[in-house]
Amino acid sequence: MKKILDSLLYLLYPELCLVCGNSLVEGETVICGYCENNLPRTRFHDDSDNLVSQLFWGRVNLKAATSFLFFRRKGVVQQLMHQFKYKGEREVGRYLGKIFAQELVVSENYSDVDCIVPVPLHPDKQKKRGYNQSEEIARGMSEVFQIPCKNNLIQRAVYTSSQTKKSRFNRWENVSSVFVVPEPEAINYKNILIVDDVVTTGATLEACAQKLLQSTNSQVSIATLAVAYN
Ligand SMILES: [Zn+2]
Repeated sequence: MKKILDSLLYLLYPELCLVCGNSLVEGETVICGYCENNLPRTRFHDDSDNLVSQLFWGRVNLKAATSFLFFRRKGVVQQLMHQFKYKGEREVGRYLGKIFAQELVVSENYSDVDCIVPVPLHPDKQKKRGYNQSEEIARGMSEVFQIPCKNNLIQRAVYTSSQTKKSRFNRWENVSSVFVVPEPEAINYKNILIVDDVVTTGATLEACAQKLLQSTNSQVSIATLAVAYN
């Protein structure tokens, strides 16, 4: 009965691909197979000297760093992220997290990760948006990796005002003191993967990584859904 009802609902309200707008067929979620195949993938994961890891050279000692997609102005990824961040399309983040993780889980650089940690959003922002977009991505990834997503491991201490117009140095000053790890001993000897939506200067991720690396023999890698690329 439920199946019949679902089919009827589908006829009335077909789900549409968020990129091209065509109807989705059975087995497709969020975007169609064609658009999924044509996402601007970086394929950085096995390359230790990629654009994203280079961003952190001389700043923080990461095990590895990568991004899933190239983020270009007015591109497909920007379109998807907009739906995801501002239109309440939580499932977009989960879905992208899952297809990202399917690539990462088979990469030597990431296959031995112990837990996934999303970059925390300030509680005020989270209240306004209803969810933390990084956590949605991280949850999708943790399903594929079959390891825990620990969203309280690292927390935000103080508010940082909008960072968009500040220089890298000022940003660092601004973010270096905002994260706290309430139980640092919980990640001794752990291999942690920090997850965020888009990496630009990397200042926030650097600050998170520094905090997690204060634990004994912890290792930190970074994976973002997208990297800004012109
Ligand atoms: Zn499509």
